[in-house]
Formats: sequence, structure tokens, C-alpha cells
Amino acid sequence: MQPILSLQDVSYSYHNLKGETPALSHISLQVSEGSFVAIVGPSGCGKSTLLSIISGLLAPEEGEILYRGLSSREYCADTALKIGYMLQRDHLFEWRTIYQNVILGLELNHILTEENTDYVLKLLRDYGLYGFKDKKPSELSGGMRQRAALIRTMAVHPDLLLLDEPFSALDFQTRLAVSADIASIIRETGKTALLITHDLSEAITLADRVIVLSRRPACVKCEMPILYEISRKDPLAVRSTAAYQDYFNQLWEVLTDGKTTP
Ligand code: ADP
Ligand code: MG
Repeated sequence: MQPILSLQDVSYSYHNLKGETPALSHISLQVSEGSFVAIVGPSGCGKSTLLSIISGLLAPEEGEILYRGLSSREYCADTALKIGYMLQRDHLFEWRTIYQNVILGLELNHILTEENTDYVLKLLRDYGLYGFKDKKPSELSGGMRQRAALIRTMAVHPDLLLLDEPFSALDFQTRLAVSADIASIIRETGKTALLITHDLSEAITLADRVIVLSRRPACVKCEMPILYEISRKDPLAVRSTAAYQDYFNQLWEVLTDGKTTP
């Protein structure tokens, strides 16, 4: 089957008055339909730039992106991939209730149909937010807000979810629980997801495959499939397996070039 997303030799530099900042260097990667891929790299290496390129906000200077085998020149409204973006801050609007927030994408796309609102209500019910649908975002915990942000993203039925360090604003304990929670929602719905993080532990706990980027300009240093014999629902149990330790040690070595600090 065609991968849902394929990057071939993609490079990108920012240009401004101070000169040129190379951000991505000859990146090639593939994401298959239904998979959960994490991209890890040091802060400032070009991770968000990569997501901007994948989502079409920036055009690559060199190289090509294919969505289900089609280049941007070939696809049209019918074949274009729907991309959902989830960011570090949840960007919920304080003056709207949780329900009004999660239907925002449907409103903006003029697809506020009964079928779509039923789907949103189902997501709110399935993920424990139905009782909070008439509350304002400030009345919810950080984890619940992140779940609401995910439901808002899922409401428009994206083919590909891009998650840019969505848990980094949460404290460590909340982060463990919320990231496992969000990852299991994504898996249950069979969505393809690309998670960007600077946290190697998070990447290894959540993803089926981890791609390690170098310092800026980012290039792909290594890719590793991640498999566990136990369910991923309990992040602490996953983190106490020998397999987790093994993945961590191998990828830490790659990330830090064998030095003790990155
Ligand atoms: P990351 O998400 O990995 O922390 P970014 O992709 O945001 O990194 O940025 C990569 C590099 O590109 C950084 O050094 C950053 O300073 C630079 N950069 C990001 N956006 C711009 C911009 N609009 N103009 C110039 N340089 C930028
Ligand atoms: Mg970033």
C-alpha cells in the first residue's frame, strides 16, 4: 500500500536580513496509513519546521512530498489529505464553552451537519468530557483541556494528525497520564499520527516507530520500530520493561552521539 506521507530528500532554509538559517537537510521518511510515528530531536533542530512543511504551510526548497503517492501538483480537492494539527498550547477559546470549542473546525469549514455534531458528542462521551461540555476551558484540568483540543482536531475527520509537542506544557505526572490517554484515543480511532517531541522517553512509550533527528539543520540519524509485549495503556508499566530500557539506551546513544549530555 502507498504510504500516506512520503518525504523525499527535503531541505529547507529560512532567509532573513541576518542571512540564511538552514533548518532541514535532505530529509527522507515515510509514514504508513494507521501508524503512530514519533520524531525526536534536540530543541531548535527544525522539528516544527518539518511539520510546517508536511502541513503545506511552508514549501520545501528542495525535494518533494507525496501524499498517498501524489505530489502537490497532482492532487486536487478530492484527493487532498485532510491534516489535523495539535500544538503545545491547546488554543481553546476562553469565551466559548467546551462544546463550542470542539465544533469550531466544523463551523469554520461549514460542515456543522447533524452527522458531524453526533460524532463530536460521541467523542465527548467516549473520552469523559460530556459532563463538561457546557463548562468554560478554565474550569477544566490541563489534561482535560488537551483531550478537548484533540476532539476539536478529530471532529473534522483528519487523515493525518500532526502533534507538535502537545504535552510539553503539562507537569510530569499529568503528562505521563495524558500522553498515554491521547495516544490510546488515536490508536482506537485508527488515525495516522506524527508526534514531534524532544522527549525520548515519551517517543519510545507512545510510538510504533521513532525517527531521531540531528541538531540543526536536521537530518534523519536513525529510525527504529518500537514493539512491546504488553499494552501501552499503562505508561509506567511500559517504562519498566526491559525492552523500553533497551530502546532508550540505543536511541540515547544516537541522540547524544555517544556523549553523556545531548
Ligand atoms: P524546533 O521545533 O525543533 O525547536 P524550529 O523548527 O522551530 O525548531 O526551528 C528550527 C530553527 O529555525 C531554529 O534555529 C529557529 O531559530 C529557526 N527559525 C524558525 N523559524 C524561523 C523564522 N521564521 N525565521 C528564521 N529562522 C527561524
Ligand atoms: Mg518546535
